[in-house]
Amino acid sequence: MSELYDLVIVGAGPAGLSAALTASYFHLKHIVLESIKPGGALSHNYPSKIVDSYLGFRGMKGKEVANKMIDHVKAEGSEIKYPEEVIEIKRNKEKKTFTLTTNKGKYQTKSILLCTGTIGTPRKLGIEGEEKAHYVLCDPEEFKNKKCLVVGGGDSAVEAAVMLNKVCDTVFLAHRRDQLRAINKNQEELKKSNVKILWNTELKCIADRKVKVWNNKTGETKELDVDEVFIFIGSIPKLDFIKNLGIKMEGNHIIVNSSMQTSLQGVYAAGDITGKLKRIPEAIGEGHLAVYSIYKYLRNPYWT
Ligand SMILES: Cc1cc2nc3c(=O)[nH]c(=O)nc-3n(C[C@H](O)[C@H](O)[C@H](O)COP(=O)(O)OP(=O)(O)OC[C@H]3O[C@@H](n4cnc5c(N)ncnc54)[C@H](O)[C@@H]3O)c2cc1C
Repeated sequence: MSELYDLVIVGAGPAGLSAALTASYFHLKHIVLESIKPGGALSHNYPSKIVDSYLGFRGMKGKEVANKMIDHVKAEGSEIKYPEEVIEIKRNKEKKTFTLTTNKGKYQTKSILLCTGTIGTPRKLGIEGEEKAHYVLCDPEEFKNKKCLVVGGGDSAVEAAVMLNKVCDTVFLAHRRDQLRAINKNQEELKKSNVKILWNTELKCIADRKVKVWNNKTGETKELDVDEVFIFIGSIPKLDFIKNLGIKMEGNHIIVNSSMQTSLQGVYAAGDITGKLKRIPEAIGEGHLAVYSIYKYLRNPYWT
């Protein structure tokens, strides 16, 4: 508790890791606190998916990209503490430092960078048998030759259905609307696959090797024989500790200015939590820019 950091980075996804690298570059005394494991969504949500849109990393899987980032950051001297979840942040009385409380201890710092992403807890349907469903797809090979149902219409659902299609016997994709939200690239991949799309279809219950689905246009209910169910209908971010800090937010996103500074002096945010593109290149750029701004705030160099 006695040590005073220049910067505590909360979250070790692409934004937090990029920030850590920049903090090493600027010789800021820093630490990264991560509640699950480093790598963020790439490690927890899509370790086997091929990452697109990240320059120079063509054809690499989420976990491979994450490992490269983590190795780089550690080699430059950053310390990543995990699993350690930040549960409270308080501005100290003199208003120039903060105390962060985690499930393991307390940290004192002059500045904070919030890179907590928006993944949080998977959103549930609230249906019978839902505890049998999966909310992440780590390794499609685990489900080889099985019959699977994927629920959802966004990128996570479509990407999972396409990945499963490569190894499974049958894959259904049930979406409650008559069009998908996923980006065109993913919709094209879906068209090329053998995934059976069930439009206007809602999952009503999961039993052993069977599910009940309901068509919200025709009112028809039917049973499908499936071995595994995957639900990808979004997630609920854990925001209590951020909201309690009193910084300005818009919905579930933190409002930042062009320097990535929040409404509270000394507190910055970067990556998905700021609610912009929600892609890896954006998260990395924002993490870097935020620490550059923090360096200027803490050191006030002559060149700014
Ligand atoms: C299925 C899927 C596929 C995707 N595919 C691509 C792709 O191909 N290309 C692309 O560019 N983008 C892709 N994205 C988006 C990309 O993963 C995100 O934009 C990126 O991970 C955002 O980085 P981040 O660091 O802001 O957040 P995250 O990666 O979400 O990392 C946030 C980290 O903060 C930690 N954390 C949260 N709360 C706390 C707390 N209280 N204390 C400590 N730690 C905490 C979390 O555990 C997590 O590790 C995909 C996303 C998903 C879900």
